[in-house]
Amino acid sequence: MKSFYATTSRNSGSDGNSGPSTHESGNVAQSGEQEVLHSLETVQETVQYAENEDQSSHQLDVEGIRVFNPDVHVVSDPGLRVAIEQFHPNIRDDVRRAYLVKGPTKPFGHNFPQNPTNKRMFVENWLTVNDWLEYSIKEDAAYCFYCFLFKQQPLEQHFGHDAFTKVGYRNWKNAYQGLPQHVGGANSCHNRARTACVDFQNRRASVEHKVENWSVDAERKYETRVTASLDVAGYLIAQAHAFRGHDESDSSLNRGNFLEMIEWHKKRNDEVRLAFEELCPLNAQMLSPDIQKDLCSAFAREVKKVIKKEIGDKLFSVLIDESRDISIAEQMAVIVRLVTI
Ligand SMILES: [Zn+2]
Repeated sequence: MKSFYATTSRNSGSDGNSGPSTHESGNVAQSGEQEVLHSLETVQETVQYAENEDQSSHQLDVEGIRVFNPDVHVVSDPGLRVAIEQFHPNIRDDVRRAYLVKGPTKPFGHNFPQNPTNKRMFVENWLTVNDWLEYSIKEDAAYCFYCFLFKQQPLEQHFGHDAFTKVGYRNWKNAYQGLPQHVGGANSCHNRARTACVDFQNRRASVEHKVENWSVDAERKYETRVTASLDVAGYLIAQAHAFRGHDESDSSLNRGNFLEMIEWHKKRNDEVRLAFEELCPLNAQMLSPDIQKDLCSAFAREVKKVIKKEIGDKLFSVLIDESRDISIAEQMAVIVRLVTI
């Protein structure tokens, strides 16, 4: 014979532990241990699902090479390379990192061919003078290393933007003008690409990276706080202990089971302590009475689900009783009994 037992209270501000009926609730709490664990996973899954929703919808919009293979995709000859935009945004930084390790392709000592029409050819010294310049032996053309890696949207008509990134520059006769023209002024595409490259290599100084790092770190700490609060709530529910204290102010000597247990957890686990004390916003501490109630109702939903599943289509009896406790809160006890074989 199995008995499932639950109490409800009309006074939602009460800690749910008062009233005559809760003295017997130990049986339920024990049989609910497995359900508590199960519900913990479900709540965590729900949190993760909500966070990943945006990302997954974003992924559908973006196409490109999704797996980066350095042996295939890192090509020395700039005329034969796959453009960075053709890689999926998630792996573009890996591709850039691989190219930066390799450096620009400068084939010193190559026998640069002569243009049959005007007898001009690429001058090897240009490779030394311009650190960004690359030469493609296959295409007999010049390319820009920075503009290839960090191609910027042109703010205005910029000389040789496509020539140095896509098609290759071959106008050797006017190169003494063409190369400085490609570099351009302080805000030119080339110089912005160069700045992006310097920032990328020195990512600690990059504002964008700092923001990104901050949010990843904050998200991890948020998850740690939710998990700690869930663990504590799970324990208190299983033991049928009250959550709240009479005085929960900072100066209180006893702030109630929930907050005291979080403090206890913080002292013993450095990760939990950092999550609550560093980078913790004032509005997402996961400690407020509302959050405690949300966590409890998540546990309750999961426990109810398991009980319903266990009852299935078996015969069962229901016994309901109601009484008032000392704080004049109505307590209703529901007992479901059924035979399991
Ligand atoms: Zn450039």
